[in-house]
Amino acid sequence: MDDRELHEHLIGQQGSRAALNTPVLVLDLDQLDRNIFAMQAKATDRGVALRPHAKTHKSVDIARRQIAAGAVGVCCAKIGEAEVMIDAGVAGVLITSPVAAPAAIGRLGKLARRAEALMATVDDPQIARSIDGAVARSDALLDVVIDIDPGIRRTGVASADAAVDLARTIADCEHLRLRGVQFYCGMQQHIEDFAARRAAIEERTQYLQTVLDALCEAGFPPEIVTGSGTGTHAIDLALGVFTELQTGSYVFMDTQYLDCDLDGSGAAPFETSLAVDARVVSANHSALVTIDSGFKSLSTDGGSPRVGKGASPDTVFAFMGDEHGALVGPEIGTRLRPGDPVSLVVPHCDPTVNLYDHYHVVQGDTLVDIWPVSARGRAR
Ligand code: PLP
Ligand code: MN
Repeated sequence: MDDRELHEHLIGQQGSRAALNTPVLVLDLDQLDRNIFAMQAKATDRGVALRPHAKTHKSVDIARRQIAAGAVGVCCAKIGEAEVMIDAGVAGVLITSPVAAPAAIGRLGKLARRAEALMATVDDPQIARSIDGAVARSDALLDVVIDIDPGIRRTGVASADAAVDLARTIADCEHLRLRGVQFYCGMQQHIEDFAARRAAIEERTQYLQTVLDALCEAGFPPEIVTGSGTGTHAIDLALGVFTELQTGSYVFMDTQYLDCDLDGSGAAPFETSLAVDARVVSANHSALVTIDSGFKSLSTDGGSPRVGKGASPDTVFAFMGDEHGALVGPEIGTRLRPGDPVSLVVPHCDPTVNLYDHYHVVQGDTLVDIWPVSARGRAR
């Protein structure tokens, strides 16, 4: 059975959302598309390119929808993710994490030959030289951007001087072409209060501007300034320093982002398109029922999922081990019976998606497609 036949077989078996075997990763197609168009419109209105981050969805199908809506390509976190996207014909991939393992650098060299408009990030002169060597062995050219540390000390050059030094090294590398810089403020994305988030980003943008000025003065004016996330997209667009955005989570919206006032309006500009649908498997207590979703079907780094459809608003979720969770609430054991479905809003979308092989795609309550999580597990 090929993928298509498998999907038709599965869809044939399971026509409605409520009938799906659980736990299952459910994606609402109309909400997804509205999110894709909403972010694209915000960027386009400001004359800024959108290169959404595919680390969030790891899906060729979603990447294609983003590009059809106007995105210039997608970002990937790792070389393995990028290979999946490029093998599927996705152009304009930017790899946003430094590549350092010799095997990964070798693969990057090979990708440079067959990918259309591939870019990589670098933050180290020695690694830049190694990548140059790998690209040379493929007789190719590779575009790169300098990653600038926004102050979290995760990746990126640590000063304007280091950015200029690295730019000089890249200029010496015959097979690399410097296109600009990346500046991703990961720590600021989830500051819940809009004014506090804006103040933090304004301060960070002033620093970015000093690095950009130093690069211009040294003769390396950045053509591309890429960064931003769902949490800061509105602020970054208003400040006008980025030439492209690499927002990711907006396609799904998780509870971490639902708690943030994303654009200062108090209303969420994006919809929650993603859910883990679960099912009651045991209901022998009045104030607690057990469902079939635990650590193996929900990422645990962002707290507990929010209980949506199928339970009353005062119901809370508690992890109960690898395979199970509890829904706790007054009289819940008499309201819900084994077999009843419940829907959960995930705390953190990216690591939850990476637990599933497929998205079950719905419109309303009807299953309309099954898409692979194409780059699932491609962490290297
Ligand atoms: N860019 C980089 C480098 C990231 O690590 C991430 C997410 O972690 C994003 C963009 C997307 O950010 P968000 O999911 O907040 O939209
Ligand atoms: Mn994330």
